Amino acid sequence: MPYRRCGQSGLQLPAVSLGLWHNFGDDVAHQTKQAICRTAFDLGVTHFDLANNYGPPPGSAEKAFGRILSEDFKAHRDELVISTKAGYNMWPGPYGEWGSRKYLVSSCDQSLKRLKVDYVDIFYSHRFDPDTPLEETMGALDYIVRSGRALYAGISSYNAKRTSEALAILKNLGTPCLIHQPSYSMLNRWIEDDGLLDVLEDSGVGTIIFSPLAQGMLTDKYLKEIPQGSRAAQSKSLNPAFLTPENLQRIAALNVIAGKRGQTLAQMAISWALRDRRVTSALIGASSAQQVRDSVGAIENLEFSEDELRRIDEHALDGGLNIWKESAEI
Ligand code: NAP
Repeated sequence: MPYRRCGQSGLQLPAVSLGLWHNFGDDVAHQTKQAICRTAFDLGVTHFDLANNYGPPPGSAEKAFGRILSEDFKAHRDELVISTKAGYNMWPGPYGEWGSRKYLVSSCDQSLKRLKVDYVDIFYSHRFDPDTPLEETMGALDYIVRSGRALYAGISSYNAKRTSEALAILKNLGTPCLIHQPSYSMLNRWIEDDGLLDVLEDSGVGTIIFSPLAQGMLTDKYLKEIPQGSRAAQSKSLNPAFLTPENLQRIAALNVIAGKRGQTLAQMAISWALRDRRVTSALIGASSAQQVRDSVGAIENLEFSEDELRRIDEHALDGGLNIWKESAEI
C-alpha cells in the first residue's frame, strides 16, 4: 500500500481508505463487517472513516467498529487513523444536526463512547451550516482538538469559497485544517470546476475523496441488471433512477478502457481518482471482503498515459449523481 502525505501535515494516509457509511449497520452480520475490516487492514488500509449517523440505525456503524477495534485491533490502535463526523441529522430537536458548538461537542462525546476510544484521529464538520457563524463551527473543531477528543480537524463537502473561509479561521485559531472530504468520481467531477483542489493545495490541506465508485455504479455490476442485494436494489442512497441509458453507456465504455489496462472498472475508477497527487486518499466502501481485495488492487496500476486519460474524458461526464450538492452549496 502506498502512503501519501496529507497536505503539508506530518500525517500520511493509505492511498485507499475504507469508509463504513453502508454495510456496517445492524442489518449486516458481524462476521461480514469483521472480514471487511480485517481484509482491509491486512492489505495496508490503515484509515477507517465513520460518522455519527452511519448505520442503520444511526450510531450502529460506530458501535460495530468499536467492537471490531476492541476484539480484533486492540493491539493496533496506534497503527490506525480513525475519523468521525457530525453535521447531518442525528437526534431530535434543535441540537441534533448542523454546525453549532452544542451539537458538535456532544456528538463527538457520543461517538467516542460508541467507538470505545479516548480520542479519534480526525473529527470533521460533515457539512457547511448556512445558519451558524462559521467561527462557531470552526471554534468547536478547535475546542475538540484542544480538549484531546481528536488529534486533527477536517471539513467535508464545503465548496471552495466556504473552504477558504473555514481554513482561515482554523489557521487563526492555531488548529490548522488537516483534510477536506469531498465527493469525486469519473461521473461526479464538481471539485475540478469549483477550484477546491487549488484552494486546498495553496493551504497545504490534504484531500480524501469519497465515493470514487459512484456508490458502485463504476463497476461492471449494473451493466446487465440491478443485482439483488446491491445498493441500487435496496434504494438506500443509490437511486436506481441514476442508472440512465446515458450513464450505463458511459460505464460500459469505461469498462472497456479498464479492461485494456488490465484492471477491473472499480480498480480503474480508484486509480483515476488518485491520478492527481493532491488527492491524498480514495475513500471506498465495500459490502464484502472480496470487494476490498478487488478495489485495493487499484494500487497495482496508478499510472495513466495521456491517450488513456483523453479516452476516459470522453466518457467521464457528469452523471447527475451528486446528492451532496446542497451541502457544498453548489
Ligand atoms: P464507493 O466506493 O463509491 O461505493 C461502495 C459500494 O460500491 C459498495 O457498497 C459496493 O456496493 C460497491 N463496490 C465496492 N467495491 C466494489 C468492487 N470491487 N466491485 C463491485 N462493486 C463494488 O463508496 P461509498 O460507499 O459511497 O462511500 C465510501 C465512504 O465515503 C463511506 O463509507 C463514507 O466513509 C464516505 N462518505 C462520506 C460522505 C460525506 O458526506 N462526507 C458521504 C458519502 C460517503 P454494493 O453494496 O452494491 O455491493
